[in-house]
Amino acid sequence: AQKLAPSGVARDFGFFIDGEWRHGREMFERKSPSHDVVVTRIARCTEADLNDAVAAARRAFENGTWAGLASSERSAILLKAAELLKQRRDDIAFWEVLENGKPISQAKAEIDNCISCFEMAAGAARLLHGDSFNNLGESLFGMVLREPVGVVGLITPWNFPFMILCERVPFILASGCTVVVKPAEVTSATTLMLADILTEAGLPKGVYNVVTGTGKSVGQALTQHPDVDMLSFTGSTGVGRSCIHASADSNLKKLGLELGGKNPIVVFADSDLEDAADAVAFGISFNTGQCCVSSSRLIVEESVADKFEKLVVAKMEKIRVGDPFDPETQIGAITTDAQNKTILDYIEKGKAEGARVLCGGNKVDLGRGQYIAPTLFTNVKPDMSIATDEIFGPVLSVFRFSSLEEAISLANDTVYGLAASVWTKDISKALKVTRKVQAGRFWVNTIMAGGPEMPLGGFKQSGWGREAGMYGVEEYTQIKSVHVDLG
Ligand code: ADP
Repeated sequence: AQKLAPSGVARDFGFFIDGEWRHGREMFERKSPSHDVVVTRIARCTEADLNDAVAAARRAFENGTWAGLASSERSAILLKAAELLKQRRDDIAFWEVLENGKPISQAKAEIDNCISCFEMAAGAARLLHGDSFNNLGESLFGMVLREPVGVVGLITPWNFPFMILCERVPFILASGCTVVVKPAEVTSATTLMLADILTEAGLPKGVYNVVTGTGKSVGQALTQHPDVDMLSFTGSTGVGRSCIHASADSNLKKLGLELGGKNPIVVFADSDLEDAADAVAFGISFNTGQCCVSSSRLIVEESVADKFEKLVVAKMEKIRVGDPFDPETQIGAITTDAQNKTILDYIEKGKAEGARVLCGGNKVDLGRGQYIAPTLFTNVKPDMSIATDEIFGPVLSVFRFSSLEEAISLANDTVYGLAASVWTKDISKALKVTRKVQAGRFWVNTIMAGGPEMPLGGFKQSGWGREAGMYGVEEYTQIKSVHVDLG
């Protein structure tokens, strides 16, 4: 079994451009959020490094070594990458936990989903196709060509460093595009590790490039780069907005944005309350609540609300907060110091604004690392900050409803529209809620279910476009209409 890297034996990472590893002149250190020891040293890339990466991606796009392959050949490389990922699953999960602090059991399950993303994208590569029109009159024939967009910039966050990467990269590659990735500075390791896997799988040089560093330096420069054709950004709504400005001020690059959420979970009195309470507890504690689709607003029918709150509290109190390397742990460490402070500040604001804590509401002291107990607030008013803001931590607010219309209106009372869940045994109620609530991803009598066949993305201020599945791969293509005069 692998042991935690002891203090002072951190692993150094370079960055990856045009099929080669480069060394950073300046490095920064990443401490494990669960063990407070330095685990990785990552290069601080410069704007010149970024320019090299974009130039390499441009050359690799234009020389035809990738976009010019038959889809079967691209597919074979993606399948080989899936096979290699299976062999390195435990190693990648280990580094993911070291930098992110999530429970090892969840990290391993995520890597399984990543393998599935590569397999799905291998199929998607072969299914992508254009169209033809034979109905334009005797002498005009129409063809619709589907072409890769070109060089894609990909900026990823620290909450699911490898999974968010793998919900995008295989589909970007399936379309024939090339990519420059900028991972979140605190969780760069596994994005860099993917470079070796892709190289071994046979990916031509320059198709997958990684630059590391902060969002304000290299991230922002990527959003403004005039030679990047499309940017896929996943992170906060504020930075998403700045990506839109950067696109407008540079080359109008196409944007895919997956941003924040304040997701409702609606529980009707006629649902299986035990199962619904399990889902509520899981929905707020999964990935320590550092999850854009976490269900952070419980909207429960008045007639069962008292009973249901008690059920949820009992479940939340049983959730095991602990060392992420313990296979029994359900909630690991908070990933960054800043996020730890943000969550604790929201808990204090909630108390000050008059909401009542039914469980949690405090730090958990495990001797080292930073941990927060799953927290449930009742008596929450719609204008309180804990009701409106994405907290990105294990903090749940409860609201009550007396009619279906009120449930729908509470569920929609947010600027976001990423995900929603509804619990009832009455299919017509479930479908009414599903049709009226604005969210890009819906779970009926389940939570967090999914796989790479299903598209991901948001309504309203939760983003633009979709990732994964056939919908995802199509985002990285553009359509050319060809009119042929047959004479
Ligand atoms: P979080 O609060 O989850 O860190 P961010 O939106 O700040 O969310 O970060 C998501 C990703 O965006 C990270 O890779 C980060 O480095 C990057 N980033 C942060 N600020 C900017 C920016 N101004 N321009 C481009 N990328 C940025």
